[in-house]
Amino acid sequence: MVKYDAHVHIALDGADYKEMKRLHQDGPNEGHIRALLSAYKEAGFTFLRDGGDKWGCSLLAKSLASEYDIDYRTPGFAIYKKGSYGSILGRSFSDINEFKELLEEVKKNNCDFVKIMGSGIMDFNEYGVISECTILPDEMKDMIKMSHNAGFAVMVHCNGNEKIVNWLEAGADSIEHGYYMDEDTLDLIKEKRAFWTPTVIPVAALAGQPGFNEEVIKRILQKHMENIHKAAKLGINLLSGSDAGSFMVPHVKGSLKELALISDVDPGEDSTYLRWPRRL
Ligand SMILES: [Zn+2]
Repeated sequence: MVKYDAHVHIALDGADYKEMKRLHQDGPNEGHIRALLSAYKEAGFTFLRDGGDKWGCSLLAKSLASEYDIDYRTPGFAIYKKGSYGSILGRSFSDINEFKELLEEVKKNNCDFVKIMGSGIMDFNEYGVISECTILPDEMKDMIKMSHNAGFAVMVHCNGNEKIVNWLEAGADSIEHGYYMDEDTLDLIKEKRAFWTPTVIPVAALAGQPGFNEEVIKRILQKHMENIHKAAKLGINLLSGSDAGSFMVPHVKGSLKELALISDVDPGEDSTYLRWPRRL
């Protein structure tokens, strides 16, 4: 079976964010990145798509990846709206002109696609609750249009049905996470020929951890798994992405777990990731 992970954060170690912040404070730590690339290669991985970081780690990883026979795609940093979720992974904008400036940097860094933090994060103690994200539908359309015109596909971190629908209608190329999605929205993903990376492992990994309500997590995952099964039946472009590097998700191990889970549900489609556009 082909081994790939369509959502990793090579900057992070899956355990201690503060420690990683220290590690990369004077620039991306090459030893950390090489050790992870080497572990992925050893485990047989040939494709990694990064979800971004704010220290330039994924850009360095991209420049080293050919030494490890890995096709490495990265947006560089993730782009988030000032005041909304995303400061741990990227850089912020407050209006469309500032977004345009960030897009110029994505171009200058020779990135592979644009990553937008398009919703808040889930509250694991209260079912259905997601933190606020203030990007409005018209702004979403402008952001995607500008990115597409610059030749970039757009990967959107998004939870919550309404926001997922808005981003898909604005032209998002992939929805990352996609928790709390209604069944009808799967038809929209299909119609738009978008990709969906459901990232199950990072949520499953929180069950039993102190400070996270296990019942809420179980309920979230049950609905999510139902959607993944439906998506596979509909022939949606499902990507295995583990969010490796995020809290409690170790690189390689987490990637293998997510891959096993997705290929179990969707056994015929382990090369979908190859259709993720290089540049438009
Ligand atoms: Zn992520």
